[in-house]
Amino acid sequence: MTMDSPIPLAIVGVGKIARDQHLPSISRTPAFALRAAVSRNAEVDGVQNFTDIEACLAARPDVKAVALCLPPEPRFAAAITALEAGCHVLLEKPPGATLGETDVLADLAREKGVTIFATWHSRFAPAVQPAKAFLADRAIRKVTITWREDVRRWHPGQGWVWEPAGFGVFDPGINALSILTEILPDEALLRAARLEVPENAATPIGVTMTMGIAGGGYEIDADFDWRQEGPQTWEIAAETDGGLMSLTGGGKTMAVDGKVVSDEPEAEYDGIYKRFADLIEAGESDMDMRPLRLVADACLLGRRVAVEPFHE
Ligand code: NAP
Repeated sequence: MTMDSPIPLAIVGVGKIARDQHLPSISRTPAFALRAAVSRNAEVDGVQNFTDIEACLAARPDVKAVALCLPPEPRFAAAITALEAGCHVLLEKPPGATLGETDVLADLAREKGVTIFATWHSRFAPAVQPAKAFLADRAIRKVTITWREDVRRWHPGQGWVWEPAGFGVFDPGINALSILTEILPDEALLRAARLEVPENAATPIGVTMTMGIAGGGYEIDADFDWRQEGPQTWEIAAETDGGLMSLTGGGKTMAVDGKVVSDEPEAEYDGIYKRFADLIEAGESDMDMRPLRLVADACLLGRRVAVEPFHE
């Protein structure tokens, strides 16, 4: 059905991720047709542009789905507006500033009979499903997550990452947790965390987390750091009875004992839009909050340590 009559879509928040990934993927996805854009500062060529979502949805009742590419804090109100208007909603990650918000959105989508999709783009990285299949029938002994990148390189000028609801280094770290919760055959539970928060920021620049699984078993250690210059590291390693499985490049490449077994081209956002179309067609939603819950638990249980101020 969607191939014959593409779903009219509006994009809201035209920043880095909207330009780098959403707009190209939407144009490659036959199930959607971009009809409008909402941004306070930017414009998208070839479609009608608005500066707020209310005006957009009032003027364009043909729009049936919205992709919300705003930071988490302003995204909640936009999601409420879109759901109230009866639109299907795609949420960029992290899906909310709080778990309470995401419950409200899931309930409202159900009440309105529309789809809501909390996207975790890293889950669509090409080696994630091969890694999940590998771990499914192995005895796991230890999992180590190393997610170290340079905030100046990846978030230039994005002051919101340091404000409440900006997530700090959890903004990339939650991508690792979205992969972890997808590939592990067990539920990861937080045991301890350490949050290094610059004196002039509300959110952490470095985090370590120790997780386990119910009933003992194995440990999962995570190290998220935004102060890494030079080579960047987005890696999950699992020691198993079938060898050392490593997922590198944020989920792009999988190797076992150093031998590459999966390395396909990246197509995360094409996968996201295909899944959004499939969910709409099936009349379903996908609101898996486990990555956000681990971040929330780290904030509940973690020890906060002040570190030197951060200046871009
Ligand atoms: P960004 O470049 O700062 O863009 C966000 C856009 O949202 C802004 O351009 C702004 O557009 C709009 N906006 C509306 N209200 C805002 C407010 N109160 N504060 C800031 N912006 C506001 O951020 P981004 O990197 O695209 O990230 C957006 C979301 O995508 C985040 O949740 C992030 O975690 C996620 N994401 C980012 C990346 C990445 O590589 N950057 C990757 C995956 C996911 P107008 O001013 O024009 O309205």
